[in-house]
Amino acid sequence: MNIPLVDLKAQYDQVRTEVRSAIDNVLSNTAFIGGEQVRIFEEGFAKYVGVNHCISCGNGTDALVLALKGLGIGPGHEVIVPANSFIATSEAVTCVGGRPVFVDCDEATYNLDSTLVEAAVTSNTKAIIAVHLYGMPGPMKELAAIAEKHGLFLIEDASQAHGAKLGERSVGTMSDVATFSFYPGKNLGAYGDAGAVVTNRKNLAEFIAKYANHGRSAKYDHDMEGVNSRMDGLQAAVLNVKLKYLDSWLEKRIAIAAKYRELLDAKQYRYTLPLENVRHVYHLFVVRVHRRADILKELAHKGIQAGIHYPIALPFLNAYKHLNHISADFPVAHKLADEILSLPIYPELTQMQVEYVATHLNAAVKPLTKEAP
Ligand SMILES: *Cc1c(COP(=O)(O)O)cnc(C)c1O
Repeated sequence: MNIPLVDLKAQYDQVRTEVRSAIDNVLSNTAFIGGEQVRIFEEGFAKYVGVNHCISCGNGTDALVLALKGLGIGPGHEVIVPANSFIATSEAVTCVGGRPVFVDCDEATYNLDSTLVEAAVTSNTKAIIAVHLYGMPGPMKELAAIAEKHGLFLIEDASQAHGAKLGERSVGTMSDVATFSFYPGKNLGAYGDAGAVVTNRKNLAEFIAKYANHGRSAKYDHDMEGVNSRMDGLQAAVLNVKLKYLDSWLEKRIAIAAKYRELLDAKQYRYTLPLENVRHVYHLFVVRVHRRADILKELAHKGIQAGIHYPIALPFLNAYKHLNHISADFPVAHKLADEILSLPIYPELTQMQVEYVATHLNAAVKPLTKEAP
């Protein structure tokens, strides 16, 4: 048995005919940048999320940069970001000239710990970026209250959480502006880089659309200098095919996660239980284990590829060495980084494969925990 962390080929096999014909259409129409497929995607994705505006762009990192730029965030400004995320979240803040300020995460959800956010607010703070990590919605109600009280913008980095919900509300609708990545491995993935910004604010949407396209007002007329961050027609065509299947794929991820929870020996692990009334879309299924290196080795030996997201929390990366953070500054993120393990999860994973992973993980963990102090 050989079980990868994700299997993009299995998904391609399902949509192959449709995707090939969609790609062929783009090639025939030569609408390589922007064009009809991009417009269709922007409309379809805005509708899917439940917002008025979707602006497509080059990738999920650019989407964050565009959102921050659109909100006027720049030099001298601080933006609160979670200590446990992919570097793009904090990188985007630095990219616009701002300063990322890390806040520790909540051990139960792996998301930003909203009870620690207020202490990080200063007179320079302009925004909070909530990341819906692993597909689990962040504490938006609590963060919105803090943002309101201190006059801060609230941004959602929903790159890992397309289609996730908090009660009736979809991620992407609970902030001033939200961003998505369509990196191939994400729950909705293109066949290259792609991203999007969504918002209900018309002026913000117009600014971002213009800024992402060289500040262009007409073909060779420019209101301002901008950047080049656009979705290409081929990616939009692929995404238009896949968007139709997204909800059925998410339901499969949710069912696989439920199966993992049923089969994993609960006493041996800690994993996030789905909160009531939350649609966690399981971009990743993460468990916590002791002696992770040994377990990874055992799993690899059985042909199971597990992952770590992420092995080093953001404040402790070399990229942020200059901030001189010590582990005691972010005790939860520091501890999680040593224990978290991402199990294979993708819609096409079969029941038998889930059972195989669970069986071998239970076997690998047991003898180790017995010896553990
Ligand atoms: C993937 C990801 C991004 C960046 O997306 P790219 O499309 O790879 O630039 C940003 N934030 C989070 C949380 C991500 O997982």
